Amino acid sequence: MRRYFLKFSSILLFSLVVAPYKYLNAQTNKIINKSLTDEQKEILFNEGTEKPFTSALLHETRKGFYHCANCGNKLFSSESKFDSGTGWPSFSEALPGAFKTKVDFSFGMMRTEYHCAKCGAHHGHVFNDGPTKTKKRFCNNGLCLIFKPST
Ligand SMILES: [Zn+2]
Repeated sequence: MRRYFLKFSSILLFSLVVAPYKYLNAQTNKIINKSLTDEQKEILFNEGTEKPFTSALLHETRKGFYHCANCGNKLFSSESKFDSGTGWPSFSEALPGAFKTKVDFSFGMMRTEYHCAKCGAHHGHVFNDGPTKTKKRFCNNGLCLIFKPST
């Protein structure tokens, strides 16, 4: 009985401590696009990650620009897109001033995460193992991006 009680109280404590924080965290970032899905909000505002190999943008090869799904900020050119084999849309460089970076220590790793410079939404992580001369690999959640082909 006591074990169940402890289990129950830890779940309760967890939701009391974490839930308001998540809520506040989501509030500090501005939701501009009102038609974002819950999945998109989880990534953009709670630093979630989409399942690999699920993004339709993985196979997008047309010329154009990738924009922030929340605020529409122009982030990447199709020129910098490449197939990294990781299952997430990958880019060798971002457009100047598109993002702000922050060091992230979650999952016992030191990674650099990046946020849209305009609305603050989380997009992905950038690594220094890219295949081009920039050496960068922007690993971006496809759900955070809107592709606009150039006409
Ligand atoms: Zn944005």
